[in-house]
Amino acid sequence: MIEIKKKSVLIVIDMQNDFLPGGALAVENGDQIIDGINKIAEKFFNEGNPVVFTQDWHPKNHASFASSHEGKNPGDTIKGIYGIGPVLWPDHCVQNTSGAAINERVQTKYGIAIVRKGYRQNIDSYSAFFENDHQTPTGLSNFLKGLGVKIVYICGLALDYCCYFSAIDAKSEGFEVIFLKNLTKGIDIPENNIQKALESMKNAEIVIIE
Ligand SMILES: [Zn+2]
Repeated sequence: MIEIKKKSVLIVIDMQNDFLPGGALAVENGDQIIDGINKIAEKFFNEGNPVVFTQDWHPKNHASFASSHEGKNPGDTIKGIYGIGPVLWPDHCVQNTSGAAINERVQTKYGIAIVRKGYRQNIDSYSAFFENDHQTPTGLSNFLKGLGVKIVYICGLALDYCCYFSAIDAKSEGFEVIFLKNLTKGIDIPENNIQKALESMKNAEIVIIE
């Protein structure tokens, strides 16, 4: 188990039923990281460091859903819509559905907060820090700064979307960022997206722990 530095937070991204095997937007083998996430969350908790969970939380007919755009299918791209895409997704994580629930095996009891994102009809939010216009904050950055946090550890789903964008934004917000690669799984759409995300994080001086 890794050593956890002081003034750290663990952010557990989107461990929701729709992103797990059997869900609407399942990440392959996403369930395999649950036990490891529980272990590290428990360690953060026991050492007095905060743990924060995020939850993708869309209204019905959210603009990121392919079904909201005539003639579009999940996986299709769309351009020119502010704060959306380019990839369109199947309907997923609709508010108050079982798909949107954080999986019951995930020990949210170690968390001090759950940040919900993507709740505005016409804008998506991959990052835990900013919506996809890269301007509208979720509030998480100031919340963490208020707690005196300097170092952000990231795990959860999916590596090349919500985890990746959260890591990049955390770095740009002035946090030291540690990416727990073995506690994430990726979607890899389009092809090689995972590799690209990892390279881009390395270039941004994010520490990636294998
Ligand atoms: Zn979403």
